[in-house]
Amino acid sequence: MTSKPNILLIYTGGTIGMIKDYETNALKAFNFEKLLDRIPELVQLNCNIDTFSFDEPIDSSNMNPEYYVTIAEVIEDNYKKFDGFVVLTGSDTMSYTSSTISFMLENLNKPVIFTGSQLPIGHLRTDAKENLITSIEIASAYKNNEPVIKEVCLYFEYKLYRANRTTKINAEQFEAFASLNYPPLAESGVHLDFNDDLLLKPKNKVEDLIVRKSLNNNVIVLKLFPGITEKAVQSILTIPDLKGVVLETYGSGNAPTYKWFIRLLEEAIKSGINIVNVTQCVGGSIILGHYETSVDLKRIGVIDGKDITTESAIAKLMYLLGEQIEQKEFKELFETPLRGELDF
Ligand code: ASP
Repeated sequence: MTSKPNILLIYTGGTIGMIKDYETNALKAFNFEKLLDRIPELVQLNCNIDTFSFDEPIDSSNMNPEYYVTIAEVIEDNYKKFDGFVVLTGSDTMSYTSSTISFMLENLNKPVIFTGSQLPIGHLRTDAKENLITSIEIASAYKNNEPVIKEVCLYFEYKLYRANRTTKINAEQFEAFASLNYPPLAESGVHLDFNDDLLLKPKNKVEDLIVRKSLNNNVIVLKLFPGITEKAVQSILTIPDLKGVVLETYGSGNAPTYKWFIRLLEEAIKSGINIVNVTQCVGGSIILGHYETSVDLKRIGVIDGKDITTESAIAKLMYLLGEQIEQKEFKELFETPLRGELDF
C-alpha cells in the first residue's frame, strides 16, 4: 500500500460516547462529532479516518437484527472505498452483535474491528482512548500490501479476539471479555504482536463480499438447571414459529435422562425445530455421547455445538435459519466452522 489506509469508524452508541445526565444521574448517548473532539490524538495516526454515526446512538441493550442489517449495509456500501472498519458499540451485547456480523459478511477480506469501553471517553480514567486508538491501528495494519486482519474481531483491553469466540465476562473490570476456546489474535504491549498462525486466511481472494441479510430471530436460549419442570420446557419448545433453540447443557453436553425431557426434545426436532447443544461452561467443548447423559441427545438428532459460545450459536442460528436450509444440511453446516467460530 502506497497511500495511507482509509478507515471508516462506525458509531452505533454505547458507553464510549455517553455522558452523564445530571438530572437523572444516568449515562446516555451523545453526539458522535463531540466524541471525536475528545480524542485529538487521532490525527496522529497514519490513516485517514471517516465516520458514520447512527442518527440516534443506542445503548447496546437495544441492539436487534434490524440494527445488525444497518451495520452490515454500511460496511457493504463502503467496502470498496475503505481499507478497514472500526465499529463502536456498547460492550453489553458486543459479542452477540460482532458474532452475527461475522456470519453476515461472507468472503470478508478486510478488517472489521468491534470495540467500545467500560468508562465514557470523557472520564479521566477512561479505557476508551486506548481501545479506540489501537483498534484503528489494527484496522490499518498492512503486510505485503494486504491487510493483516481479514475477519471480524473484537478489541478490548490490550487484546484482539476473534469476535465470534468472545463472551462478556465482567461488568466492572476493564478486561471485560474472554475468549476461552481460542487464543487472542493479537496482544498490544510496547509492540502490537499478531499471532499470524491463528488468523483466518480467506481461501479465495477474488470472490466479492456477500452480505447475508435475512436473519431469522425465531430462536431462544434454554438454560438447564436442576429442578427445571416439564411445564417450563414444554412451553418453551411450543412457542409459535420457534425455529431454533440453543440448549445450554451441563459440562461437556450433559442433560437429564428423564423420559419426558427427551420426548419433548424429540418432538420439537421432528416438528422442524433445530436444537443446538452448547455447554453452560465458559470454556471447553461438547463431547456428545461421552457420558450416558448425552447419548439420547445424540440419538434424537440434537446438533453438536462443539466449543461454540452461546452468543455465536444464537448468531449462527439466526443466519442459517435466514438461508432456509433443509434440516439435515442445517445440522451439517452448523457443525462445520464457517467463520472460525468452532473447532472441527
Ligand atoms: N450499557 C452499555 C452498552 O452496552 C455498556 C457499554 O457500553 O459498555 O451500551
